[in-house]
Amino acid sequence: MTNNTIAFIGAGNMSRAIIAGLVANGYPAKNIIAANPSIGKLDALHQDFGITITQDNVAACSQADLIVLAVKPHFIQPVCEQLAKNVSLSNKCFVSVAAGVNIKPIQNALGFAAPVIRCMPNTPSQLGLGVSGMFASAEVSDPQKHLADTLMASVGIVQWLEAEENIDDLIAVSGSGPAYFFAFMEAMQNKAIALGFNPQQARALVQQTALGAAQMVVENHDQEISTLRENVTSKGGTTQQALLTFAQGGLPELVDKAMQAAKDRAIAMA
Ligand code: NAP
Repeated sequence: MTNNTIAFIGAGNMSRAIIAGLVANGYPAKNIIAANPSIGKLDALHQDFGITITQDNVAACSQADLIVLAVKPHFIQPVCEQLAKNVSLSNKCFVSVAAGVNIKPIQNALGFAAPVIRCMPNTPSQLGLGVSGMFASAEVSDPQKHLADTLMASVGIVQWLEAEENIDDLIAVSGSGPAYFFAFMEAMQNKAIALGFNPQQARALVQQTALGAAQMVVENHDQEISTLRENVTSKGGTTQQALLTFAQGGLPELVDKAMQAAKDRAIAMA
């Protein structure tokens, strides 16, 4: 599997995160190549990880078994058309991380029913703590799927989806999810400051509380999250009073509405 050459088209934030994860997990740098129009990001990738670099998408893809399309969504079509014109693409598999670009338009731009995997990572992938939703077109072989799994598992957990539409569901949960937690933490930080903490103290209190709570969920994976909540809620105590206020304010319904709005927007944008 590690004999396969992986080409990254676009050497921006997402490619850098995945390349860092792959190399850290032992994938041979000599089997990774990145292409980008400007040289600065490529030089940094070569220096940091020892991978091969080129400013020529065609040269990168000619040698590749797996091609990661990591350009902004509006560049996907021209990049695929360029590759279709200049590279023999049979036996190559594509992984697109571009938000909101369906598999069919990618295959259309490539000019044939190519094996394409659509992948929706989230921002914490840049720290190796991401969630990637993956859906493979019918043309993808098991070894290609396995290689794509290795690729994205290097930056977090991978969830394979049964239908491409499920990507829109996943966007509402893990794709947009980090910002939900940021918004909640921001509101808590503002109140901490209003209570008299200085901004640095307020941030330290909030970020460590969020980190600790998330870690408790991770380590107590045999317990429901609702049980963890009940365990820290004494009858008549302070936590119960706060949670009652959330419930009276309609927090669960609001979260439901917000996540539905994210899903509806994902569908409208695709
Ligand atoms: P980015 O940092 O802007 O990287 C995109 C790279 O593509 C840039 O280095 C750009 O080069 C290069 N590029 C532009 N035109 C190109 C071409 N014709 N051929 C080859 N490379 C080209 O963006 P990103 O954050 O990595 O995002 C990449 C994709 O991942 C996007 O489609 C985005 O929707 C998706 N995504 C990102 C995240 C995330 O957390 N970052 C999460 C989910 C999905 P120059 O800068 O030299 O122009």
